[in-house]
Amino acid sequence: MKRKLLAVLAHPDDESFICGGTLAKYASDDVEITLVSATRGEMGRRMGNPPYLNRETMPIIREQELRQACEVLGIHRLLFLDIRDKTVEFIEPESLTARIAALMEELNPDVVLTFHERLGGHPDHCAIGKAATAAFHRTLKSATLYFITFGEAMEHPERYGYTKKDVVKIDVRQHLKTKLASFRAHRCQTEIDKWVWEEDHKALARFGGFEYFLIGDKNALPRMENDLFPVPSGV
Ligand SMILES: [Zn+2]
Repeated sequence: MKRKLLAVLAHPDDESFICGGTLAKYASDDVEITLVSATRGEMGRRMGNPPYLNRETMPIIREQELRQACEVLGIHRLLFLDIRDKTVEFIEPESLTARIAALMEELNPDVVLTFHERLGGHPDHCAIGKAATAAFHRTLKSATLYFITFGEAMEHPERYGYTKKDVVKIDVRQHLKTKLASFRAHRCQTEIDKWVWEEDHKALARFGGFEYFLIGDKNALPRMENDLFPVPSGV
């Protein structure tokens, strides 16, 4: 049976900018990936360079760009929660948790990725992470939960109250070209970043070779420190 991964994130671009290498890696490994984006990122400040968006067109174009990024990364299914950008923290927590729990029950993933409810770095990230974490504990008894993290911060987990044992480090060096293509798919967000549009070899040099995930449930099945999926029993 195909292994399944569900990512519950807040905005178009979270998947590419934060964990695009890992999503590309597992997609290429025949894992079925579903991405849930709480919002369409319509309150973003970046409008393209030169600007080609306005407040009315922004949600439409950001959705299109996210669909392109999903195609690039090999994400099979994209779902929106249709929450207004920058308001996830104001959604009644139980209703948000219940919606995500229903999706989890339907999809029955082996691995769930979301934001850490304190270390998410943006109110929308923290709020969706908190709801997805609650939904996970309510519904998925044999899956594994991970929190996505930024850059190489989790090379030093002790700074955040964790240890190396709490961290899974994924080698994405073979998938950086795909990650770069996903950055370019989010054109309105990345056009202002000159490095993204430089020659490939120069742009690729800006990426780290690893992405880091915090283990979100202490009862998780045994796993390898470089793989999000549990070691099959009997191995
Ligand atoms: Zn975001």
